[in-house]
Amino acid sequence: MPNISQTLNQLRTSIEAAATRHGRPTDAVTLLAVSKRQSTDAMRDAYAAGQRDFGENYVQEALDKRDALTDLGLVWHFIGPIQSNKTRDIANAFDWVHSVDRAKIAERLSAQRSPALPPLNVCVQVNLSNEDSKSGVPLTEAEPLCALVSSLPNLTLRGLMAIPAPLDSVAEQRACYAPLRKEFERLRQVMPILDTLSIGMSGDYDAAIAEGSTLVRIGTALFGARPS
Ligand SMILES: *Cc1c(COP(=O)(O)O)cnc(C)c1O
Repeated sequence: MPNISQTLNQLRTSIEAAATRHGRPTDAVTLLAVSKRQSTDAMRDAYAAGQRDFGENYVQEALDKRDALTDLGLVWHFIGPIQSNKTRDIANAFDWVHSVDRAKIAERLSAQRSPALPPLNVCVQVNLSNEDSKSGVPLTEAEPLCALVSSLPNLTLRGLMAIPAPLDSVAEQRACYAPLRKEFERLRQVMPILDTLSIGMSGDYDAAIAEGSTLVRIGTALFGARPS
């Protein structure tokens, strides 16, 4: 049986080592534990080992887990595709949403977020693979969507997120992320509130950290294969 506490510590060490290798501070990169389809017991184990930020893809599953884990005070991140009939639940059950990729969704999240809650932290999802089937705006459309998000009252613009198609080599992974990093750095000049580059998963977090990731979203390398 994998020991989550041990794996988590190895992963933290590996993330810090990657940051150092690429000339970045050891605390430059936040680890988001992607717990979709993992049990609440596994999440409690990760919590006991100090993990606070958790990422979920499926709204109903996340709502059930939130109810089961209210005692822990976790930070909940929604990272999955967003259907417009789910925005009310997403707006009120999460602290962060990484997968905003159209104006209508941003507007609904802001309109439906309870004003009693702090503003919802939002990343705009960018499509780096130019596949029609993938979510995300083309890189050239990130700026207007960021501008819209920053204008909405119950949202706080935080950054950009991407899920590239899997690539084999670190060089290819870096080449894929490089234009995103460049655009992120350009946008920060005009929107200094941007502080989050949400890139890197189990298979490519080293390349993502090399290209400026501030938050890696890791599932299988932490919890093991997802039960189907
Ligand atoms: C599932 C998922 C992850 C985690 O992927 P792993 O390869 O298991 O680390 C990260 N980001 C998103 C958006 C996901 O859906």
